[in-house]
Amino acid sequence: MSNAIDTDPAVEGRSSGIVPVFNPSTEEQIAEVPDSDQAAVDAAVARARETFESGVWRKLPHQQRAEILFRANAIIKERLDELAAAESKDNGMNATAAQQIIKVANDMLLYYAGWVGKIHGESSNVVTDGLLGHYDNFHNFTQLEPIGVAGLIIPWNGPFFVAMLKAAPALAAGCSCVLKPAEETPLTALMMEQIFREAGVPEGVFNVITGYGETTGAALAAHPDVDKISFTGSTEVGKLIVQAAAGNLKRLTLELGGKSPLIMFDDANLDKAIMNAGLGLLVGSGQNCSCTSRIYVQRPIYDQVVEGLAAFAKMLPMGGSEDPVSVLGPLISEKQRQRVEGIVAEGVSKGAEVITGGKRMDRKGYFYEATIMTNTTPDMRLIREEIFGPVGSVIPFDDEDEVLAAANDTEYGLAGAIWTENVGRAHRVANELRAGQVWVNCALGADPAMPICGHKQSGWGGERGKKGIEEYFNTKAVYICH
Ligand code: ADP
Repeated sequence: MSNAIDTDPAVEGRSSGIVPVFNPSTEEQIAEVPDSDQAAVDAAVARARETFESGVWRKLPHQQRAEILFRANAIIKERLDELAAAESKDNGMNATAAQQIIKVANDMLLYYAGWVGKIHGESSNVVTDGLLGHYDNFHNFTQLEPIGVAGLIIPWNGPFFVAMLKAAPALAAGCSCVLKPAEETPLTALMMEQIFREAGVPEGVFNVITGYGETTGAALAAHPDVDKISFTGSTEVGKLIVQAAAGNLKRLTLELGGKSPLIMFDDANLDKAIMNAGLGLLVGSGQNCSCTSRIYVQRPIYDQVVEGLAAFAKMLPMGGSEDPVSVLGPLISEKQRQRVEGIVAEGVSKGAEVITGGKRMDRKGYFYEATIMTNTTPDMRLIREEIFGPVGSVIPFDDEDEVLAAANDTEYGLAGAIWTENVGRAHRVANELRAGQVWVNCALGADPAMPICGHKQSGWGGERGKKGIEEYFNTKAVYICH
């Protein structure tokens, strides 16, 4: 139970309570981190506030700020193995998957380091009707100013990646940050804090506080000296964050749940479509907010696709953090596994059929078999709720209108996928899907330059791309009369 990460409760402002951290592949405790109480949250926010007001980071010349972020990018490359080993033990994914996801996170840092100094306002040079009816010459401009102290609250799936999705634009914008990782997976966030320090981010600008959501997270979300919260997690907790933020009307970016549809038409390239539908469902064992767990298949190819998906699910190697070739890792906790079991059991009790999987694995770790369901009805939790487990439902349809109505019949709007060789239909259906991100003939594509903005109850604002960094600025209009 040792790790090379600075989790010393004696570090200033960290409380003495403890959060045990487990490897979900082995159920063994691998670390302990501080359980930060109100005083610890206050101390972290105060450090961030002091650095923001002093301007030690936000007023640094752009070249220097960018250089420091590029240096952090280089350090992450050097420490890839170490970071991946920690992520893998903490989250349960195998080390190869952890390496890939940390590389993607590091690309995000590279992308946002490139934005430093490139976010400008607009200007206008006009003769306009000033007050009291006389005409004045104005030169007007807007400027974008870092929003202040940003609280970043993240979940346990892809911990380093989601932390970077927020830390990189926030730091590039010039904000000071307090990051709270999920209680289940705090280790790589603590390493990120060290890496930014080592790269040259001034002390107190990027602070990590560990602890539970209802206490540490809630204290951060409600803190009167925090200007913005960027949150990724469940829609349920997102609503609590909205309430907590009301006290000082914090700015909010919310990336919440999803129940994303995949629509496969009968002209799809079936070999590719079935494999990608399987991956879109099962990568990360379905613990991915954009996972496409409602798979709508046009009736002429329905039986073939059900069979193909079941075969794909059965052949995926399952294994934990010690296994280099596993694709399907464990779920994050026993609690999460029981939730998945409950959703499947509810469906079965109402007539859904398990084609493959549908049960936990008889081994150590919180493993659940890759599961394909049919005969579902729209009222089942299988169809309505984000499962966060390797469980997908295959549903037949006849025509475009019918499938669009079914696909959009959800309170979520995070993502969607379309498989067809008909380009006109691809555009038509992509236009009509009420989702912030649509993949055509691919699964889970991601580009640092492309924003993801949840529609409906999947979120507010957006992350990635120019939109992602703009969320960390306030806009000011300045009027110069001459
Ligand atoms: P998931 O369902 O993905 O675990 P949650 O929404 O439960 O996501 O948690 C995501 C993050 O929100 C975690 O860091 C968790 O500790 C934190 N959290 C949970 N409850 C609250 C709360 N009431 N206020 C602030 N943060 C919270």
